[in-house]
Amino acid sequence: MTSFPVVLSAPSGVGKTTIARRLMGQRDDVGYSVSCTTRAARPGETNGVDYHFLAEDEFLRRKDAGEFAEWALVHGKHYGTLRSEVSQVLSTGRHVLMDIDVQGAAQFASSFTDSVLIFVLPPSVDALVERLRQRKTETDAQLAERLRNAHAELKQVERYHHVVVNDDLDTAVGQVSAIIDVEGLNRSRVHALDAQVSGLLERLEEQIASYQL
Ligand code: 5GP
Repeated sequence: MTSFPVVLSAPSGVGKTTIARRLMGQRDDVGYSVSCTTRAARPGETNGVDYHFLAEDEFLRRKDAGEFAEWALVHGKHYGTLRSEVSQVLSTGRHVLMDIDVQGAAQFASSFTDSVLIFVLPPSVDALVERLRQRKTETDAQLAERLRNAHAELKQVERYHHVVVNDDLDTAVGQVSAIIDVEGLNRSRVHALDAQVSGLLERLEEQIASYQL
């Protein structure tokens, strides 16, 4: 099976990080690319697991050194995907799952053209606001900024290959998992397809010839 990058994007609070975690617990053939960010860690987040938390100057140094496959300014903070994280996971034969914003997703897909882009939608705006409020990690001003960004991000949905609505978590995880399975069967990804089909054709020709005797 050919491995490929899977990009999950969604407005903040839709639950894509929870979907990603749940999926990682269910599938051994998917690895996660831990992003870098200059935002502060939230309570319960661990450096190197949730994110690599970097100081601004360190992030910029690594950006200038070309270490990021994509990077973006989101909600006033830098976020980026390390090339080394992506290649490390792909080198183990697993798909690499990434949680990146819409600007970063477009950048990433332009260099990793085999990427599968999945957009996760909230079931409603009320549900989105409620989830952001329950998190209690944002001030009202930050919450308003996240909603403004959500408005802009939703308009980018047409750049994505698939859309999943996160109403029920188990259903959403199952749908992302099904997308990965189906994409693995995409003709362009089937390993050594030409050789496989040539073998079948040759054998068929032998059979046809034998029936003509
Ligand atoms: P949060 O701060 O809530 O964890 O994430 C805020 C936003 O940053 C989310 O939309 C998330 O998808 C995005 N994000 C997380 N990691 C990356 C990354 O490596 N690159 C980009 N471009 N966006 C990211």
